[in-house]
Amino acid sequence: MPRKKRDRRLLAPPAIKGLSVYGPKNRSEQVVLYFEEYEAIKLLDYENMTQEEAAVCMDVSRPTLTRIYESARNKVAQSMVEGKDLIIRGGNFQFDDNWFYCNNCQAKFNRLVETDKTCPVCNSLEIITLNEYYSEED
Ligand SMILES: [Zn+2]
Repeated sequence: MPRKKRDRRLLAPPAIKGLSVYGPKNRSEQVVLYFEEYEAIKLLDYENMTQEEAAVCMDVSRPTLTRIYESARNKVAQSMVEGKDLIIRGGNFQFDDNWFYCNNCQAKFNRLVETDKTCPVCNSLEIITLNEYYSEED
């Protein structure tokens, strides 16, 4: 019986959907970087956390964090060496509950106060949580 994978916690969504190759490109293939792999690279290589700190942040064990990070680096290297676009999508992840998505203007925003139920960009009431947004995407 397959074990259900626990969701990894993401602090914030990536600002981009991926990276495109500049120059000769392998147009037939893309590399898919999972959200938790993006998060591991961000925490370790951008925010310079230790692996212990990043594991706590993502709510995973240290060995799991190491596996996620190694897979992430392998995919980034594959993208660069083989000239494949890098797409950020999918994986096992859960955003903090204070992240929202606006169905009207596509804004992603977070809010610490739960009382205001409108989009800060367009004032639309058509907002859903970011977790709902990504679960509807596929
Ligand atoms: Zn909006």
